[in-house]
Amino acid sequence: MLTQPLFFGVWSPTQKGHFLHGSGGHTPASSERLARLDQGFCRGVKNRWGEVDPTQQIEGLARLHFVDGYTVLAFWDRSGDNRYGSNSAFLVPGRHAFADAVRLAREAFPSIWARFTFPVVLEGPDLLPEVAPGHCPGCNCGSRSQA
Ligand SMILES: [Zn+2]
Repeated sequence: MLTQPLFFGVWSPTQKGHFLHGSGGHTPASSERLARLDQGFCRGVKNRWGEVDPTQQIEGLARLHFVDGYTVLAFWDRSGDNRYGSNSAFLVPGRHAFADAVRLAREAFPSIWARFTFPVVLEGPDLLPEVAPGHCPGCNCGSRSQA
């Protein structure tokens, strides 16, 4: 468990590709249990081709998850890569309400937040309860992430 927030997504428009980053831009080893970081924590339901319909990919409409000690703040984001399917997820160690998670993620990654041209607003319940490790209250994403 790290103590600093992590960012999964596109680091910059000149450095495309979705990866996990620390605040300095480096890429730490990722947790196996967070293998669903790419799109898996965002809103929307995948179709039979494993894609979420573009009409559901509303930028900044965030989902909050609590998995393995991390508050995960995830939303569709085409500010780093304008293609559909592009997304961002902030992993904040500990359990936080939406406003706190946003503040901590923004403090750790100011350059990422500066490029958002849309508001980041919560969709779904706030301050998720503690549950068994590997699980996420409400959406069960944590258990499904263990491929
Ligand atoms: Zn979840």
